[in-house]
Amino acid sequence: MRIYRLLPVLLGLLLFSCRPKERADLLIYNAKVYTVDSAFSVVSAIAVRDGKVLATGTDADIRGKYESGEVLDAGGKAVYPGLIDAHTHFVRYGQSLFTAPLYGSESFEEVVRRVKEFAASHPGQAWIQGRGWDQNKFPGKSFPDNSLLNEAFPSTPVVLGRVDGHALIANAKALELAGVKPGQTIEGGVVETKNGRLTGVLIDNAERLVQRVTPRPTAAQWAEMLDAGQNNCFGEGLTTVTECGLDKDNVEMLDSLQKAGRVKMRVYVMLSDNPGNLRYYIPRGPYKTDLLYVKGVKAYADGALGSRGACLLSPYVDKPGWLGFLLSSKAHYDSLAAMLAGTDFQLCTHAIGDSANRVILQIYNKYLKGANDKRWRIEHAQVIDSADFDLFGKASIIPSVQPTHGTSDMYWAGERLGARRLRGAYANKQLLRQNGWIPLGTDFPVEDISPFKTFLAAVFRVDAKGYPSGGFQMENALSREEAIRGMTIWAAKADCLETEVGSLEAGKSADFIILDRDLMSVGQGEVLQTKVEGTWVRGKKVFGR
Ligand SMILES: [Zn+2]
Repeated sequence: MRIYRLLPVLLGLLLFSCRPKERADLLIYNAKVYTVDSAFSVVSAIAVRDGKVLATGTDADIRGKYESGEVLDAGGKAVYPGLIDAHTHFVRYGQSLFTAPLYGSESFEEVVRRVKEFAASHPGQAWIQGRGWDQNKFPGKSFPDNSLLNEAFPSTPVVLGRVDGHALIANAKALELAGVKPGQTIEGGVVETKNGRLTGVLIDNAERLVQRVTPRPTAAQWAEMLDAGQNNCFGEGLTTVTECGLDKDNVEMLDSLQKAGRVKMRVYVMLSDNPGNLRYYIPRGPYKTDLLYVKGVKAYADGALGSRGACLLSPYVDKPGWLGFLLSSKAHYDSLAAMLAGTDFQLCTHAIGDSANRVILQIYNKYLKGANDKRWRIEHAQVIDSADFDLFGKASIIPSVQPTHGTSDMYWAGERLGARRLRGAYANKQLLRQNGWIPLGTDFPVEDISPFKTFLAAVFRVDAKGYPSGGFQMENALSREEAIRGMTIWAAKADCLETEVGSLEAGKSADFIILDRDLMSVGQGEVLQTKVEGTWVRGKKVFGR
């Protein structure tokens, strides 16, 4: 009797297995595939063809329907969409890999020592550049002056960027070549002068005085820098990065390296807010290829909290009477918004302080006029007055946040802001509630490139040392699912790329990663041990252990 009941099933199986299978370029099975579709579905297999996701489903579905010369048993491991960083300085990061690494220096003496070591191992450089110092890590936490640097390098110009890129210190030779004079003033910047002499510290717009005379990399150096940068990104599972501020010549260089196959990283670009870029791109509209999308315009409302350049509504607690400053006039931001409102470009404005955020939120609201799909963004949205949160949701403004900024700044942000303002700072969950979604990024090279540090900071609100136990302002922690969406589909949406990347669904680019442990269940203490076992972009493996 039993066999009769099984007959239709057996017949079905026979027919199914006789049906010719469709060709695929790659099949992955026995995996835990987080598709990050709208239901956050988990499947076990995925088929890829022509660089795109062909189908996802159970092992039986996918292996029954498709065949491929390349079949991969994932051994039960987690597969996620390729990670997307919603705020980076990808080009500057590549460059920084070829300059003196000053990150984590605990004194200015250590900075100078590291620069000397770099100079000794890279002889013959006309200019010595470095990046990553942070006076908040030095004893006394005050800005250094350049006397030690002048002694060590009397005749070679030296320029060292602060960790956040919002200040630098230059030696006397570099200042002389740039023609910087004591007491010089500049809108949106500070040329630090003490007792009638330059200290070498240049803040925000004043940095340009020296930057405009530093040598530009050659085309070959460019390619080498981007290569090094993208390889590190692929090793961390990043397949798309959001580049926050490039000029036309850099965009064209990137485009040509992508077209030549040298750069395989997908890049969304925000153009730097300057007349040359706007004059060229605005009449032409956004520029798009398979790997490049130039659709944003990046403006800076203020500086950073670390260098007290963030523009606050009431004075810094640790610098009485000082409010920070806007980098341009309100009229400038208003006219930029007025111009872009009639185009397909996204306006993306850096705003850290509560005053800067209010100015930009009000201007955005004025032109966006209620709910819309223009996807204008505020980068960082770091300190928000409690009265202003609603201005995000009212005009569908995207708060683009970097969870590791919170866990880096928490050591001293309270000294700058005081307890009341600190509650409205790094408020990721409160900002998520505004539109129901939020993109996450790192701002690398300001922070480390690791998306796992972003996940740890977003979900557990601790830094790499696990500090503070119990987490920093946990009311603003995201769930694991929210953090993963923030690093995939929501980041894609903030870049207007959600129909192409950010989830593993049929028709989308086959950008995905295999991890050695699963972010949806890994213990807090193990998050940073997560290793990427393989990274694929458009169905091609670009990294593997
Ligand atoms: Zn940035």
